[in-house]
Amino acid sequence: MTIPKPVVIAGAGPTGLMCALALRAQDIPVVLLEAEEGLTRDLRAGSFHPPTLEMMASYGITDRMHEHGIRVRHWQIRNRPGDLVAEFDLDLLRDVTPYPYRLHLEQHRLTPIQLDLLQRQGGTEIHFGHAVNGFTQHADGVTVTTSGPSGDRRFEGSWLIGADGGRSIVRKELGIEFEGFTWPELFVVVSTPYDFGQHGFAYNCYIADPVEFGALFKVPDAGPPGLWRLAYPVNPDESDEVLLSPERVEAALQRLVPKHGTYDILYKSTYRVHQRVAASFRAGRVLLAGDAAHLNNPLGGFGLNSGIHDAVNLCDKLGSYLRGEGGENLLDLYSRQRRFATIEQVQAMSIRNKRMMEERDPAIQRQHLEEMIAVAADPAKARAHLLNTSMILGLRRANEVT
Ligand SMILES: Cc1cc2nc3c(=O)[nH]c(=O)nc-3n(C[C@H](O)[C@H](O)[C@H](O)COP(=O)(O)OP(=O)(O)OC[C@H]3O[C@@H](n4cnc5c(N)ncnc54)[C@H](O)[C@@H]3O)c2cc1C
Repeated sequence: MTIPKPVVIAGAGPTGLMCALALRAQDIPVVLLEAEEGLTRDLRAGSFHPPTLEMMASYGITDRMHEHGIRVRHWQIRNRPGDLVAEFDLDLLRDVTPYPYRLHLEQHRLTPIQLDLLQRQGGTEIHFGHAVNGFTQHADGVTVTTSGPSGDRRFEGSWLIGADGGRSIVRKELGIEFEGFTWPELFVVVSTPYDFGQHGFAYNCYIADPVEFGALFKVPDAGPPGLWRLAYPVNPDESDEVLLSPERVEAALQRLVPKHGTYDILYKSTYRVHQRVAASFRAGRVLLAGDAAHLNNPLGGFGLNSGIHDAVNLCDKLGSYLRGEGGENLLDLYSRQRRFATIEQVQAMSIRNKRMMEERDPAIQRQHLEEMIAVAADPAKARAHLLNTSMILGLRRANEVT
């Protein structure tokens, strides 16, 4: 069978690169268009769940991630001032996955691995500095236009995948509603090499507190000792200058673990958090995947993982369709399955996690935490909780959607 035109992908983030790898593994030609001059390096996701590691393994990505990533077998729920409430051991899942842990690796260390594997394989035209600014759909394809330092260009494709992030031009051009809401508060993320492990903190902790909940996790950085990243909510009416001032950041870390001397801060930034899902992940020959299709708060570490899940599900079905093994309804099935997983699992869990961590009523907070203590203490309940929070159950249920 000859496939006349390549699949065009907008965005060389982790989702777009995963789509390209999954299509190339099926010998489908790909054009990958990225607005920036190179891979983006901003500090974002860093935690990978077992099913995501399983999905990426056959492409050779997972082994490469293990060369540098940190295996995180335990994660904890703590309260202020940092006391341990409950600890979960992912090894309880060793009979259902070859990866019974979370793997911590910065997103900007994953994407160079993906790009390298893609370039070694050949068959992908990769254009950096090409921002997609529009497209038109025809009966047999899509014409995509870009702008950038090398001028305006056009690309002919059979299908277009919009993996161009939360502000997706592709989604906006389609006029697809991005349903949901934006949380009122801002978040600050700071990174320090200070070793919280010496105080008993697991490499992944959620800190419940009615005033300043938080998430703490360790990432490998360029190598030992690695970095600990703390994310916490702040007042959005204050300027970045104030929120990220050395005094404010220092005070936040001292509230977590008081210590003599100041913390060494290597990175700090603010970001806004949304809970949104596109009304459909397909419109004709155009498909949405990753942050272009859905956004969630980072409590639980689901965003990037679900982008990879989208990419694998989508490219499996697009490949089958292009080989003539099924009709276009396969692509609608992609949209239904992944919207289901996003809404029923990722949105529901990330919203619940945040509400539990920030609960303002002390009695309700205590009740939540007591429930978590009971779940962690019972291996059967803990295992069920881990199947859910590791995205295993949600994926199984989504795959049953017809
Ligand atoms: C602080 C923070 C912490 C996070 N922590 C986690 C975590 O622990 N676990 C987790 O799973 N997720 C986490 N996330 C979410 C995760 O980072 C995102 O879900 C992930 O980046 C989505 O990947 P993507 O490829 O879909 O989109 P992006 O990473 O946004 O990539 C989109 C790409 O498209 C390019 N692009 C944009 N517009 C165009 C255009 N017009 N034409 C061509 N290219 C374009 C961009 O330059 C970019 O390279 C976190 C996010 C933040 C902000």
